[in-house]
Amino acid sequence: MQPVNRTLRARWRVMPVVVLLWTAATAGAVDREAFGQRLELAARLNIEAPWRESQAVLDELRPHLGLATGDQLVTFLMLESRNQALNGEITASLATVDRLLDLDLDPDQRLAAHARAANVGYIGRQFEPTFRHLNDAFELIEAADGTEGVSQIYSIAAYVYALVEEFEDAREFGEQAVAIARGSASIRELCAAHERLAFVHKRSGNFEEAETHYQAALDACPAGDHPLINGAIEYGFADLLQAAGRFERARPRFERGIDAMLRMNYRNGLAEARVFRARMAHREGDESMVEALLTSALPDLDAAGHDEYRAEAHRVLADLDHRRGRHGQAYEHLAVSLAAREAHLAEVRARETSFLRARFASAAKERELARLREQQRISELEARSQAQQSQLRLVVSIAAALLLLAVSVLWIRAARDRRRFRRLAQRDALTALSNHTRFFELAERTLALAREKRRPFTLVLADIDHFKQVNDRHGHLVGDQVLRHVGTRLRESLGRIGIIGRVGGEEFAVAVPGVERAEVRQRLEQLRRELVAVRVDGVPVPVTMSFGLASPRGDESLIELRKRADQRLYAAKQAGRDRIDETAEAP
Ligand code: GH3
Ligand code: MG
Ligand code: MG
Repeated sequence: MQPVNRTLRARWRVMPVVVLLWTAATAGAVDREAFGQRLELAARLNIEAPWRESQAVLDELRPHLGLATGDQLVTFLMLESRNQALNGEITASLATVDRLLDLDLDPDQRLAAHARAANVGYIGRQFEPTFRHLNDAFELIEAADGTEGVSQIYSIAAYVYALVEEFEDAREFGEQAVAIARGSASIRELCAAHERLAFVHKRSGNFEEAETHYQAALDACPAGDHPLINGAIEYGFADLLQAAGRFERARPRFERGIDAMLRMNYRNGLAEARVFRARMAHREGDESMVEALLTSALPDLDAAGHDEYRAEAHRVLADLDHRRGRHGQAYEHLAVSLAAREAHLAEVRARETSFLRARFASAAKERELARLREQQRISELEARSQAQQSQLRLVVSIAAALLLLAVSVLWIRAARDRRRFRRLAQRDALTALSNHTRFFELAERTLALAREKRRPFTLVLADIDHFKQVNDRHGHLVGDQVLRHVGTRLRESLGRIGIIGRVGGEEFAVAVPGVERAEVRQRLEQLRRELVAVRVDGVPVPVTMSFGLASPRGDESLIELRKRADQRLYAAKQAGRDRIDETAEAP
């Protein structure tokens, strides 16, 4: 029970705190409208007041970020990243910008975010992200609507290029930034553009031009509205003046500049202003002032890792200690100065490398883009030519198919015609029997085959008796019918065992292989007897026929065989017709 009791007691103790918090939250309830107003206040304070004031408003709004629209969240993160940078939290500031860049931004917001990151990057002398964001920003310039972001990115590029001693590019960017800012509504951008171009000229030893632009920047940005940027211009200008030995003119500017940095709580700015001021004090021989300025600047320089100024500060301090006879301390400062100088040189080398890498990256990107464009063009052409090729292939195959069809039709027709012509050439039109030529061709082959196989062979020549009289008596049409009838009867009687032809007007021939002559003769006798009963259209047209038979003797040719068969036929006619003559044949 003990633990439960303790828990209950603890709960009761916590209760009033919860109620208090709830009341506070309700009292300060933030609705969407209030959120928007507070955010606008934070934005205004961010320019006009020390960053802590705007950060206080942001911290108050943070629990209500769920109420923020997309654009308000962008504003919130932009303000926060600026405050972090002003407080010397370079890494945190860059991380905030990265968080911002993960959001769905329009090109102007994206450009502004990259510009912020490049700006923060160079303040912290982190050149790798500086050049990376510069590069990304340059790629967005074309897509951006507003001129403010564009002027800003050119102006930052001018500053960064001056740091890597690319003065020609730096001047070009700086002048472009001023020209663009003149056309824009933003006074701050015009100030910043002049201030950064002045820095470019100061760094490249062009003092007159530098003075002109510092003056122009001051004219554009009165101290009241833009205390931070105005202060930065003042101490930058003062540094130019002290370098030229114009200490009296520099002095009030340094005072105003350092005062502004203190008021605005801008740590890197303050440290830089103190280093610049210490340069003048050193040249004037004011040792205690040098010591005071550098000693107060060093913690911030150490925190920012600003090795160039650290090396300078420790070298000057070593010099002072040496003159005062504090050799041990002089030695320590010198050692730190040398190490910082070493680190600074390494930083310069790295800065040059990242500068080159950024340049190389954009050159390589351009080449890659050109290559991709070329590839795209090639694949488009390829696709087009493939389409054309397949179209062509389709047309060609259709044409080929049509051609094949046409050729096949023609070929089939030709074959059919050929067969028809051959039939016509080989057949007798009236009786459909083989004609003279065809019959003797076939008879020749059949004789050769029979002789080869030593089989019997009989050649029959037949002629209708007194056919002229049939024509005379009944007419040619009836004569034709009789001829057709005789052909049919011959085919019925001998068609299965021999070849039959109409070899003249009323003359027929039969070649019979492989059958004894007696059998042939018997069939012919039968036929001869039947011819008496021939009728045409019911009218009796009795005809008789004479036959001459011959079988080959030895190697006797068909011509000789034919001659003998003809002799037998003649003999049959002579003997009184309507008969078969074979008497002279050897069995
Ligand atoms: P033979 O007994 O001596 O053979 O007397 P034939 O009248 O039959 O002989 P001939 O050779 O003197 O006459 C043959 C006749 O056959 C003559 C011709 O008018 C007739 N003829 C030939 N070809 C045709 C034909 O295709 N149609 C008709 N209707 N008659 C034909
Ligand atoms: Mg005849
Ligand atoms: Mg006849």
